[in-house]
Amino acid sequence: MIRIAISTLGCKVNQAESASIISQFDLNSYTIVEWGDEADIYIINSCTVTNRTDYKSRYLIRQALSKKAINPLVKVIVTGCFAQRSEKEIYALGEVDYVVDNQQKLNIASILKGLEFQFADIMEAKTFSFAPVSKMQQHTRAFQKIQDGCDFYCSYCAVPYARGHSRSATLQQVIQQARLFADCGYKEIVLGGVNLGLYLDGSYKLADVVESIANIQGIEIIRLSSIEPQLFSNELIIRLKAISKVCPHFHIPLQSGSNAILNSMKRHYNTDLVRELVNKIEDAFPNSAIGFDVITGYPGESELHHKETVDFLATLPLAYLHVFSYSMRKDTPAALMPNQIMKAEKINRSRQLQKLSDTFKKKYQERCSQGNVTLRGVVEKQYDGRSEFLSDHFLRVQIPRTVPIGDFVTTSFNDVLVIND
Ligand code: SF4
Repeated sequence: MIRIAISTLGCKVNQAESASIISQFDLNSYTIVEWGDEADIYIINSCTVTNRTDYKSRYLIRQALSKKAINPLVKVIVTGCFAQRSEKEIYALGEVDYVVDNQQKLNIASILKGLEFQFADIMEAKTFSFAPVSKMQQHTRAFQKIQDGCDFYCSYCAVPYARGHSRSATLQQVIQQARLFADCGYKEIVLGGVNLGLYLDGSYKLADVVESIANIQGIEIIRLSSIEPQLFSNELIIRLKAISKVCPHFHIPLQSGSNAILNSMKRHYNTDLVRELVNKIEDAFPNSAIGFDVITGYPGESELHHKETVDFLATLPLAYLHVFSYSMRKDTPAALMPNQIMKAEKINRSRQLQKLSDTFKKKYQERCSQGNVTLRGVVEKQYDGRSEFLSDHFLRVQIPRTVPIGDFVTTSFNDVLVIND
């Protein structure tokens, strides 16, 4: 058996693609081994969202190359967003066999068997690359990628240069994949995309996808990944509300609570729109988990702008924040901006926002306890007579009984122990 080791960095889209890459190998001839184990083929599905992920990508590549130094027959393949933007740099790191662009990454199995391959400019990608997945490595929830690319070009973001223009799976492909997940026993589907809210197949939009998947027997809950604020339309909220399988968990990339900074970031909304959106979601889904991404230390972000962000956030009934320090990305407009913020100040501001996030988490759990909300989820772990899962309200919880991994459970907030991540 030929041994494959794959290491995946970054978002759920990358995780879904790695599962798809592996699904193209004939598992009668190939076997998947742990990244640290000896392998014949090493695949790195890289990420370039921050300097740190670039660093991690290079580290994994060097690790694989060190195996090749011992056994020259080893194959090293690098793909993903860091690969898309740094092809030459990667080949300069050593005897890498292939650097495969994001559009052709699902063909790695065929490329290794001799399919002709030429690295392509991602901006030329016109169609959604689709290859059905039957197994998610090490995951009990199925990550389903339905959209790729982004045309928003926010000032700080490298993603459009690594992922190309927005393109979507056809609704038929989406249903085919979701049915396959159901047949393989998955009870939860997590819908993902580079900019999920941009999903479009003719007249079919994201709501059509969710309604179609909700009709598939065996799928118990559907979770949505990030949706840009201005793409969270009233129509989407109304149609999602009518689908009981939808997780009341909504993740929204706010990035800043200062309109001046949002303008500089080239974000397409302001704080009034966001406040209105949060109120509409809360009305439609009482006690839902609404979480925001926030970038701190963006170039030109004064103490006043930061205070605007903290003050704005503090007025909203959120469940958590994901706080990111601004990371300069090469060839993005923000990288060329004056007034770059010092690292120490970024750390200081991140700490303040993290503290606010801890307060949100505490208050959110109090709200869930008062309402004794119903929690649903798929068991991921079992230990000492307890079972753990990530609930539909984005709370990681334990129940005091043993339930098989992969099984779907429903319980009440006051019957669980919340695990604070
Ligand atoms: S919406 Fe903005 S931040 Fe998100 S992927 Fe597109 S360019 Fe990047």
